[in-house]
Amino acid sequence: MTAPLRLAVWKFASCDGCQLALLESGDLLLELAEAVEIAHFAEASSSMREGPWDLSLVEGSITTAEDIARIRHIRENSRLLVAIGACATAGGIQALRNVADAGAFAAAVYPHPEILDALETSTPVSDHVAVDLELQGCPISSAQLLEVITALLSGRKPQLPVEPVCFE
Ligand code: SF4
Repeated sequence: MTAPLRLAVWKFASCDGCQLALLESGDLLLELAEAVEIAHFAEASSSMREGPWDLSLVEGSITTAEDIARIRHIRENSRLLVAIGACATAGGIQALRNVADAGAFAAAVYPHPEILDALETSTPVSDHVAVDLELQGCPISSAQLLEVITALLSGRKPQLPVEPVCFE
């Protein structure tokens, strides 16, 4: 019997909607239960099993120095890394600050903006580490995500309506 695929699902700056798309897969996800070991899934559980992971799904954009260190650690310990959703693939709605004065935004919203420890920009995961595949959407299609996981389990290239940016 082959070892289950070690799956980790990560959250950066995001609304959790793409993780919910996976949770909402319901019965289809249950069908994969024996073939997949969920080592980490931020939306479903706070527990985490250390890497290496076979597949890391990354939701959210990179917005702090800590994020940069964390995404590098995830990349170093993941055989495949898939960025899921507009936040992870393009910086998300929070990237609006990239073309404005992020400090002015913070001052308008927070009574003490000086305590914020955020970067001036919100950037996609691919700006910081190599990404094997990007799934577009806001949120992503749960059917497309399950196709990616199923394809990995059977050792074939996923069949997606949009050609993946990079998938070996
Ligand atoms: Fe939420 Fe959209 Fe970002 Fe997914 S891409 S985490 S649904 S804002």
